[in-house]
Parts: sequence; C-alpha cells; structure tokens
Amino acid sequence: MDTLKKLEVLSEASQYDLACACGTGKNDRRQRDGAGHWLYPVPLPQGGYSVLLKTLLSSACANDCKYCPLRSDANAKRCTLSADETAKVFMDYYRRRIVFGLFLSSGVIGNPDRTMERLNGTVRLLRRKYGFKGYVHLKIIPGASDAAVEEAVSLASAVSLNIETPGEKYFNKLSDVKNFTSDIVRPAKLMSSLTTKGTQFSRVKCTTQFIVGAADENDSDIISYVDAVYNRLNFQRVYFSAYQPGLGDRSIPGEQRFELNPEDHLTREHRLYQCDFLFRQYGFEKSELFFDDSGNLPLDRDPKQVWADKHMHLFPVNLNKASKEMLLRIPPIGPTLAKKIIKLRKIHALHELSEIGLKGKNAKKALPYVTFS
Ligand code: SF4
Repeated sequence: MDTLKKLEVLSEASQYDLACACGTGKNDRRQRDGAGHWLYPVPLPQGGYSVLLKTLLSSACANDCKYCPLRSDANAKRCTLSADETAKVFMDYYRRRIVFGLFLSSGVIGNPDRTMERLNGTVRLLRRKYGFKGYVHLKIIPGASDAAVEEAVSLASAVSLNIETPGEKYFNKLSDVKNFTSDIVRPAKLMSSLTTKGTQFSRVKCTTQFIVGAADENDSDIISYVDAVYNRLNFQRVYFSAYQPGLGDRSIPGEQRFELNPEDHLTREHRLYQCDFLFRQYGFEKSELFFDDSGNLPLDRDPKQVWADKHMHLFPVNLNKASKEMLLRIPPIGPTLAKKIIKLRKIHALHELSEIGLKGKNAKKALPYVTFS
C-alpha cells in the first residue's frame, strides 16, 4: 500500500474516536478531503474554526476491546504508517493549507510503549526536523509508561486518554487485556499532574472519552466520573461516544440492558453532552441533575428543562431584573443570550421575547418561565 492509500484506511478508522476538539453528531462539520481522508474542525483561540487531519498510525491492534472494530480478532483492514511517512504527508497538507493541525492516535502495535514511541517519534520529527510549531493532539495509549506519557505531554498541544467506562466493574466487561487501575487511572493522573496550573506544561489540554451504552452502565455512573474528571483531574473536555451495536461484533455481558434502539443510543449520548454543557457553562452541579429509577437521564426532555420543571416555584423569572445565573436556568437561554439580555435591558426595558431574538419554537419553550415585570 502506498502512503496515501494507507492514510485513507487509517483516517477512516479514526472516526470513532471523538476525544479531540471536534464536534459530534450530524452537525459536527467534519468533512473529507478529495482523497477521502477525514478532516476535523477545531475551534481557534481567536474564534472560528480550522481543520485538523485526523488519523491512526496503525489499524493493527493487540487489544481486545469488545466494542471496537479494530480489536485483534476482528476482520479489519490492517496497515501502519511510519513516522516519516506521516510527518511528510502531514507537512504536505499543512503547506498547501488544507489542514492546520494533526490528531494522531493508533491501535496498539505490539505493546503500549512501542506504540507510544511511534506516536511520539512522529511528533518529534514534526517539531525538530520540520520545525512545525502548530497544533498536535496525541493519544495516550492505555498502559503507556510514565516516561512515554511525559514525552507526549512535552511534544503535544493536547493529549487524550479514553477512560471508556465509569469504573473497573464496567471496564472489565469490555476487555480481558487492559487493567483499569494501572492502564487508565495511573496515566490519567500523571497527565493531570503534568499539566496542572503553574507547571511547565499547563498549556497542554487534556481530554477523555466515554463509550455510552456498551457495558450496562447508567448515566448516573457516567456523570459521577465526568464530575471527577473535571474537578479532580482538571481535564478540559469530556466526549461521549454512543456504543454502536455490531461495530465491535463481539457480545458484551449485559449489553443493552435498557433496550435502546440505535436512535435512543444517540439521544442518550446527546443528553450526556447537554449535562456536560450544564457543568461547564451554566454552573450546574451533579446533585442538580435528575435521573429516573434506572439511574438514567430522561430521554424525552433535556436535563435543563427537567430541572426547571422540578423548580417551578422559582419561575417565572423577570427578564428585566434577574441575575445572569438565574437567566441561565431558563430552558432555552444560553450564555450568549443571557449576555444579550443584560446588555439590552441596560438600554431599555424588555417587553417581549422577539426583542432578544427568541422566536417560534424557542419562544414557545421560554414562555412559561419568563415575565417582563
Ligand atoms: S486499544 Fe481497544 S479501542 Fe483502541 S484500537 Fe485497540 S481494540 Fe480498539
């Protein structure tokens, strides 16, 4: 296989990993270039988006994750790019301004450190031989040694390690090879301590991903871990990936206890993203979320609406007087709209929702929760 053919196979295989600064779902704006390689948008510090080349170094893998189409006994297309090939092809794209950065992951080639050596070696080449100073997101392979994690953090702009499940009990259902404590928790803690505020690598962002629905876990279990990832590990982002039955093609004990159809799996993923936004941008805490008897978030309404409906004694909220915190509790009002309301009401009193740009379905959704006097 020539380099571009390998890149086609490997960038296609990388699409299931969401733990990078890209969107998810239908509106994520990810796209393919003319040759079929996945290109992903990332938000720029100055605003707007630019595009990232996302690929695996290898689709060979020694591991056995049951949800994964690349696990060792699956019938997948296998190929491996060398560090030199990857650096050259990336620099070609970069010079032609097709991409501005790189997301690099890999199946496990032999063992975690051999794989990390290839990943780190590629970025070493980019940084030292080609003088590339831009964005590189590097995957930390579960079980990587401390030295390999340290080198990755020193070379990358962002690093991610997929935690996959909320704890060992669920993790053990998905792999007989990986160990939750030594392969996931240990390197995650090291990533956290190396990038903590005030340290040499505090500019390096850390992210992770959970597989949703593969191991019989419920949303409450996942949210507890998300809370710890933000507040104890101080990671910057958590991503969720709905389990796709059939992709890994291996039965998982207890899988699909909630009997969700594929559409519901995606709605469940979406509800978890909504909770994540509530934590990061709306000042919500875990204790304010509501779960049903099975420990899951209701699928029929978003978690902020559920919270509002359980707190009707706090509504309607006066849009001309309410604090920013209270404005953010109104179901269809987000941070941008709250800011706009505060700015507009300094100029004149508000009398209707159209003045703040809320119309149609969103205005109807807001009506029971707002007043103007
Ligand atoms: S380590 Fe697991 S999730 Fe990653 S490529 Fe290998 S089998 Fe797939």
